[in-house]
Amino acid sequence: MSVAVRFAPSPTGLLHVGNVRLALVNWLFARKAGGNFLLRLDDTDEERSKPEYAEGIERDLTWLGLTWDRFARESDRYGRYDEVAAALKAAGRLYPCYETPEELNLKRASLVSQGRPPIYDRAALRLTDADRTRLEAEGRKPHWRFKLEHTPVEWTDLVRGPVHFEGSALSDPVLIREDGRPLYTLTSVVDDVDLAITHVIRGEDHVANTAVQIQIFEALTHIEGGGAVPVFAHLPLLTDATGQGLSKRLGSLSVASLREEEGIEPMALASLLAKLGTSDAIEPRLTLDELVAEFDIAKVSRATPKFDPEELLRLNARILHLLPFERVAGELAALGLDDADAAFWEAVRPNLSRVAEARDWWAVTHAPVAPAADDPAFLAEAAALLPEEPWDLSTWGTWTGAVKAKTGRKGKDLFLPLRRALTGRDHGPELKNLLPLIGRTRAQKRLAGETA
Ligand code: GLU
Repeated sequence: MSVAVRFAPSPTGLLHVGNVRLALVNWLFARKAGGNFLLRLDDTDEERSKPEYAEGIERDLTWLGLTWDRFARESDRYGRYDEVAAALKAAGRLYPCYETPEELNLKRASLVSQGRPPIYDRAALRLTDADRTRLEAEGRKPHWRFKLEHTPVEWTDLVRGPVHFEGSALSDPVLIREDGRPLYTLTSVVDDVDLAITHVIRGEDHVANTAVQIQIFEALTHIEGGGAVPVFAHLPLLTDATGQGLSKRLGSLSVASLREEEGIEPMALASLLAKLGTSDAIEPRLTLDELVAEFDIAKVSRATPKFDPEELLRLNARILHLLPFERVAGELAALGLDDADAAFWEAVRPNLSRVAEARDWWAVTHAPVAPAADDPAFLAEAAALLPEEPWDLSTWGTWTGAVKAKTGRKGKDLFLPLRRALTGRDHGPELKNLLPLIGRTRAQKRLAGETA
């Protein structure tokens, strides 16, 4: 059977680094196995799901290069969920319950105060037909719970190893709300069955759901035939540097804000998230293919991975220092640097942490600069020695060699006044690279203290 995985976000907010890491791990797993990757929108929460979030998810995945082979939307599949719910009811695995949320809270509080786990007491199973008729006559509508088998549930998790739950230690989950809407616990299983998902790779916040969902898979297999329970892998969730969950900073850690505000390159984010929490070192990678080649879910550790935005920015810089011009031409054009070429890019990239910073150096090579020409006699001597054009990467060496011979200056005394006059700054990309971009006319004027 060919491998099929899914990434199943709820379009109720922006994707953040934690979600997109799961998308990436699923995608890498599929590509490595020559299988397929499904994007499924879990949008049955109609109050909170928004089309703009769905679009944002597609935009973020596309930006990262995580193309999907199949697409599904749960809100297109209500008919199928109704059919499965009817079959589960007929098989006695879904039973109607009438407790209000307040009544359930009281039951839970009472169990907890007795030091007992807050497991639903199955009171609804003891209702008679007459009880149900009376409750419905009072205007109550049922929600429906799945009747778990009180047997052990076991699976071998690709990250956690053998996992064991006792069915009797779990609450029968509500699968159908009072208004008839199916809930995630059910819809996810129905989709995984219908779309022949072989591996469910998700966050460890779903471990208890898995115990319940395995029983639902088994019930469906029993009722409808076919379909195997998928293999599960639960990854530890990312935390911040102090070990706190990322939830408080979700806005600033959204993929959209990393892209649009922080200037993060897709391969910087992918290089980090593919390796965070694994036994591999985090290294800059320029293509997803390299990450596919290195990927193995067995390298994912059970320890909590820490996400550090500073580490991401450092990796972004290392990626930029390696990226060829063709890979950033579009971004440079979007910054308004339409005429930027490979020579410009190669001159400035060692000084960048973000592509947008190229604007500062564009201003030095292509726009008037007010030079810091505070050594006029020396600069005049240097200007007189400027070689004729054409200039290339050897011009700087030839010229400063001549200036050194003529003035006897060397090191910082030689180079710093030239840099300050030519660029208006004390630091920056190598002048060997910048000088041909500045050109002789501008260089001469700047050495003469003119804004040029
Ligand atoms: N919509 C669920 C979530 O975002 C999907 C979980 C799963 O992968 O089954 O948590």
